Amino acid sequence: DNPIQRKPSWIRVKAPTHPIYHETRNLMREQKLVTVCEEAACPNIGECWSQRHATMMIMGETCTRACSFCNVATGIPKALDTDEPRRVGEAVATLGLRHVVITSVDRDDLKDGGAEHFAQTIRAIRASAPETTIEILTPDFLRKDGALEVVVEARPDVFNHNLETVPALYPTIRPGARYYHSLRLLDRVKQLDPSIFTKSGMMAGLGEKRIEVLQVMDDLRSADVDFLTIGQYLQPSVKHAAVDRFVTPDEFEDYARTARGKGFLLVSSTPLTRSSYHADRDFAALRTA
Ligand code: SF4
Ligand code: SF4
Repeated sequence: DNPIQRKPSWIRVKAPTHPIYHETRNLMREQKLVTVCEEAACPNIGECWSQRHATMMIMGETCTRACSFCNVATGIPKALDTDEPRRVGEAVATLGLRHVVITSVDRDDLKDGGAEHFAQTIRAIRASAPETTIEILTPDFLRKDGALEVVVEARPDVFNHNLETVPALYPTIRPGARYYHSLRLLDRVKQLDPSIFTKSGMMAGLGEKRIEVLQVMDDLRSADVDFLTIGQYLQPSVKHAAVDRFVTPDEFEDYARTARGKGFLLVSSTPLTRSSYHADRDFAALRTA
């Protein structure tokens, strides 16, 4: 077991008390929807849900992978809930969102990795909330030929796939994934449809070196990736990977400046950045810029 380190002052977050936080929570319960905000025990839930910004996680609560940083349960997932796309669409319309982020567990058990379910969810949101821009945060569709094309054809506004960490840490942190496969996935999205914004993110504080982070930025830019997020890794339990160190706010700011210099259109790099943190606000700002 890895003991959990005490968090520095800059990581503390406020308890959720806002009335809209409870409204968001009730809607997710009523529509039987799962959120990554809860499953990942995200520290920003008070802030995000008070602004109706919830990231829904489709295809169940059980993942076929076991990344050592992630709080989502691993196991054999249930059959797909074919009514889920409709309920996600309704929830997005009820919340009145200008931008929504949809993510999922990895479904290596499904022939298409869940690509068609993603596409149906995008179409359901388009039908019920045509003004809402849609960001998807997808699995890597490793060994799922043709899956990526199905998702891209549904035309999300933003296609996000997180690299999560530097290549040297993949064997311990993201053992079921392949760094270059994930990078190529993002590259391929842009080649298939250059009008889709691509986005990726990584965690800091797992033992990566600054020079390795800068290399990941260069790799992402060579794959034409538009947006980047970097946030502090927080250890969900003693069973998960230990925090190597808490990266300081100044170091995050240095990453942000460097990333902007390398040409990313949107960059969020702060201790509490998560891949969906402020995604609504930042994307809206970009579109009106
Ligand atoms: Fe949910 Fe993302 Fe906000 Fe965290 S940062 S609470 S995962 S929307
Ligand atoms: Fe968590 Fe995604 Fe890894 Fe599954 S694939 S364990 S949901 S990070």
